[in-house]
Amino acid sequence: MKKKIASIGEFGLIDILRSKTSCSSDVIKGIGDDTAVVKMSSKKRLLLTTDMLVEGVHFTKDSSPKAIGYKAVCCSVSDIAAMGGIPKHAVISFGVAPSIKLDFILKIHQGMKTAAKRFGVNIVGGDTVRSENNVINVALTGEVNADKAVYRDGAKVGDKVFVTGRLGNSLNSGWHLRFMPRVAESQYLVNKYKISSMIDISDGLVPDLDHILKGSKVGAILYEKNVPLRKDANIEKAYYDGEDFELLFTVSPKEAKKILSQKKYIFYHIGEIVRESIGLLSVDVEGEEREIKMKKGFVHF
Ligand SMILES: [Mg+2]
Repeated sequence: MKKKIASIGEFGLIDILRSKTSCSSDVIKGIGDDTAVVKMSSKKRLLLTTDMLVEGVHFTKDSSPKAIGYKAVCCSVSDIAAMGGIPKHAVISFGVAPSIKLDFILKIHQGMKTAAKRFGVNIVGGDTVRSENNVINVALTGEVNADKAVYRDGAKVGDKVFVTGRLGNSLNSGWHLRFMPRVAESQYLVNKYKISSMIDISDGLVPDLDHILKGSKVGAILYEKNVPLRKDANIEKAYYDGEDFELLFTVSPKEAKKILSQKKYIFYHIGEIVRESIGLLSVDVEGEEREIKMKKGFVHF
């Protein structure tokens, strides 16, 4: 194994690690969804997720420490929402340089507490270590009823594709530091409708939709005129920017009709699920179809 990580890529690395990991039978979903899913009882599932933020990659010395703390917790909350779950308990670790000011850490902690309070999360422990670059890790649990858990592999041909909000230009607009994880929307959806697959958009609409397509062994058509854009975004930014933290989900045509006629939340119908052999197509405002290449959204390696 002399290959460098850069030549394998983030998802390639995950695939290799997954192939070398085996779990006991109470693990319903191991590596490869928004969170792991473990059987707690016949009716309850425990969700587990962890997220690392690294200075220079996810934030800079100039970022607001409160915003960093808020984001660190909310990224994990968003993953719990993507499974249809409710966030519960967090353990939070800091790797910091000895030169860092206490005030900076306390402000990060304040941001974390704001997010924790908003989403009903208890911060119950963690670890602190010395590190050259500042690093924050949030591990979060959640709960979901067995029959409400939503995975990436349930999309069926004919299903409609939806998103919960506007996409693109998350970095320049500052949305990536103050987004609202869609826990309420997720709860509303899983409690009222049958959601066939779901994921949160962290890497970008196209790369995250690709996880659903690969997991479900299907293709999709996106209608550009239906994709809701954030201010100063265009369709390319909506497809690839990432860090929108909106939910991307699929439902049967029957459920789609019901969702479109409810008034509580706005859900945007942006496409259809088609046969796997069709791949991923995008229809522009003139009705022209083009094939979407799997250009990466946010690339870690
Ligand atoms: Mg996710």
